[in-house]
Amino acid sequence: MNTSDLPLNDLPKNCIADKDSNCVECEIDGELICFVDKKFANRFTIGNIIYRVLAIAIFIFSGLMIGHWWMLILYVVVVILTFTVIEPRLLCSHCPFYEKEGKCLKCWALRGMPKLWKYRPEPISKSEKILMLIFGSFIDLFPFVGAVWGIIFFGLNYNDYLFAGIAIVISTFLFMVVAGYFSRILLGNACKKCANFSCSMNKVPKELVDKFLEKNPKMKEAWIACGWQID
Ligand code: SF4
Ligand code: SF4
Repeated sequence: MNTSDLPLNDLPKNCIADKDSNCVECEIDGELICFVDKKFANRFTIGNIIYRVLAIAIFIFSGLMIGHWWMLILYVVVVILTFTVIEPRLLCSHCPFYEKEGKCLKCWALRGMPKLWKYRPEPISKSEKILMLIFGSFIDLFPFVGAVWGIIFFGLNYNDYLFAGIAIVISTFLFMVVAGYFSRILLGNACKKCANFSCSMNKVPKELVDKFLEKNPKMKEAWIACGWQID
């Protein structure tokens, strides 16, 4: 069912987006990421920037040896499009944080990205999940292709490309350290408390999702219309 047929617009904003929510008396206070903890958000942003800078470094050093600059250009273009247009549409437009006022995202992860789309209270659809998986995998994993290609090339031509070769090995090592850090803070922590419940990586228990939906009629109606059952 298409939730745009429902009279959802008249229902109140979700409690994360509503600055007047009574969080003090909320039974699930502390069990979800409902607020932006600046320290955590800054760590996430800095980690994300370092991850992308190291990925770009890998493509530059492998490009200096092999000359395949298309990899660098493709990566930079897709990263910019993913963070500014694609991810906000496919993933974030379904997130309770997206309903906050303002023209930019005010959440703990993609803070400051433009809100070009309307808020969608219903869960993320299967096709949106598949597309997000494709773009997410590309921006996170494609640097490994550049790293492996560059390191193999360096191994075969180490006399000619000593500087770029050593630089790509160091960049790849640092890249893997930051990748490990991200999986720890995301999969091991944030995904267990993230309020974008229909994201493929979300690990919030159904019981908690149901409690949140009970507090938020707009989301509840949209989710039930899409087949969600509240126990
Ligand atoms: S679920 Fe809503 S009301 Fe409860 S703490 Fe989070 S934002 Fe506040
Ligand atoms: S918390 Fe995640 S899903 Fe929600 S708006 Fe921010 S980046 Fe998007």
